[in-house]
Amino acid sequence: MIGIIFGPPGSGKGTQAGRIEKEFHLKHLSTGKILRDEVAMATPIGKQVGRKMAAGDLVPDDLIVDIVRRRLPEAESGSGVLLDGFPRTVAQARALDAMLAGEGHRVDFVIALDVPEAELVSRILHRAAIEGRADDTREAIEERMHEYRKLTEAVLDHYRKQGVRVEVVNGLGRPDEVFERVRNAIGLSSG
Ligand code: ADP
Repeated sequence: MIGIIFGPPGSGKGTQAGRIEKEFHLKHLSTGKILRDEVAMATPIGKQVGRKMAAGDLVPDDLIVDIVRRRLPEAESGSGVLLDGFPRTVAQARALDAMLAGEGHRVDFVIALDVPEAELVSRILHRAAIEGRADDTREAIEERMHEYRKLTEAVLDHYRKQGVRVEVVNGLGRPDEVFERVRNAIGLSSG
């Protein structure tokens, strides 16, 4: 099973992904986390992307597609994969579809968290005070929202056109309440 957890910055993708991973025995692959680890370890990739990430810009498609290509086979060896933060552009989605098709697989479900923008900004600023992520400044948040609207939203239409079930889930409320909706939505699309 291949699932995608989708939503704007601050929508709670990471939190919900952790719960989905446990409940549905999927391997969680977060491209944001992978990149933050590369930056923290100052690897060649980390040095290449650090400044872009801190500014809230997307990193180049080729670079992120290569990372996923390398990690996907191992993640797929279990009962399935939950992608978080990828694909973020239609080009990335096409690359993912081609990778999966090579093994006779396809995306099984997309869960799209829906949260109003004012709530997103206040959540991220709250998180910034606790975690201190380099891209949780007001400027970088605005840029991430802009990139999301400009490039990432189109990924939903890409999958709708392919006939993949896209479930839009209300992301407002306590994490437990949201997870209840997410669980039902995955049940609908995979059952
Ligand atoms: P958020 O959704 O809160 O912005 P992520 O952890 O998913 O957080 O991503 C953080 C940053 O990592 C992005 O702003 C971007 O710079 C980079 N990034 C992560 N995934 C991708 C991707 N698939 N394509 C391009 N850039 C990415």
